Amino acid sequence: MSPECGRPRPQQCPQPVNPGKTRTADQYEACCGRGRPYSGVGAAIGYFLFGTSRQFKILLAVFLTLALAANLRAETDAAAKVLARVALLSDPHVNRATNGDASNFKAHFDKAIAQVNAAKVDFVLIAGDLTQSGLPEEFADFKNHIKALRAPVFFVPGNHDVGHKFNSGQINGTVAAERVEAYEKSLGPSWFTKKKAGVRIIGINSSLLGSGFAREEEMWKFLAGELARPMRTPTVLLMHYPLFLKDFDEGGGDYFNIEPAPRMRLYNLLKQGEVKTVLTGHLHRPLINEREGILFLTTPPISFGLPRGKQPEGWTLVTVFKNGEAKESFQNIE
Ligand SMILES: [Zn+2]
Ligand SMILES: [Zn+2]
Repeated sequence: MSPECGRPRPQQCPQPVNPGKTRTADQYEACCGRGRPYSGVGAAIGYFLFGTSRQFKILLAVFLTLALAANLRAETDAAAKVLARVALLSDPHVNRATNGDASNFKAHFDKAIAQVNAAKVDFVLIAGDLTQSGLPEEFADFKNHIKALRAPVFFVPGNHDVGHKFNSGQINGTVAAERVEAYEKSLGPSWFTKKKAGVRIIGINSSLLGSGFAREEEMWKFLAGELARPMRTPTVLLMHYPLFLKDFDEGGGDYFNIEPAPRMRLYNLLKQGEVKTVLTGHLHRPLINEREGILFLTTPPISFGLPRGKQPEGWTLVTVFKNGEAKESFQNIE
């Protein structure tokens, strides 16, 4: 397991929250990944032991005691505000390949499941691309795989399960009503609302966004109902495609984001419902954006990182707070 960033983000890491700014895994490692959390205190102790005058040593000792006490109090305050600890996984791409790259994905999923069980989370979310090709046997294998998870599991479909979204101006959407139906027959509703550990989870089928299918309109009605007004229960939205990558106003016709029209429609509903946390996958690399107080968090993949060899496989431990905000800690599969 990779070292998580054990230090509070506001003090130790550059805020990844400027609208339009993103923080990649590399930047995350650079700021949080491999450092020693208390190196500053360690340096001060060294100076205390080998350094300077008696009065200064006394002053330094008082300062260190106060600093450690303040740190402990801050950690206790933060713990009191925690509502739930959630494992966010994505893109396991379950398949039956016996050779090549794809044959390794099962082992990655098994390792991630062992790590998640050891982390004793309140529940698990899986943000789509559950299977490589949406085949009936792959759906069956996925269902068997997640039986090993000890915490309750909620998941949504990705483009590999039900087909790609429709890109603006191009006739290349492969999402099909029949594929959505096959998914739902095997794995249950492709959109839903659930409540667990004090958190409301709204899951949606983001491949449908912009398709114009009757099922899409049905899903919008569901969302409009769920997000009609601010809810007291802290809410997270789970879907496969990230709403945007670099800029909220970026164009469509891109493989990786949600098209501008459904993006704006969904965003307005999120604002209306006062949702503060949106959890996604699909990129096969981590990404964090924030806009107007909403955290948009894309987790690293279980199956393979993109670019291959340059992004790690992993998952994200998400701490959800009582005010609906969340904090992420990326975990590598090792
Ligand atoms: Zn994927
Ligand atoms: Zn995908």
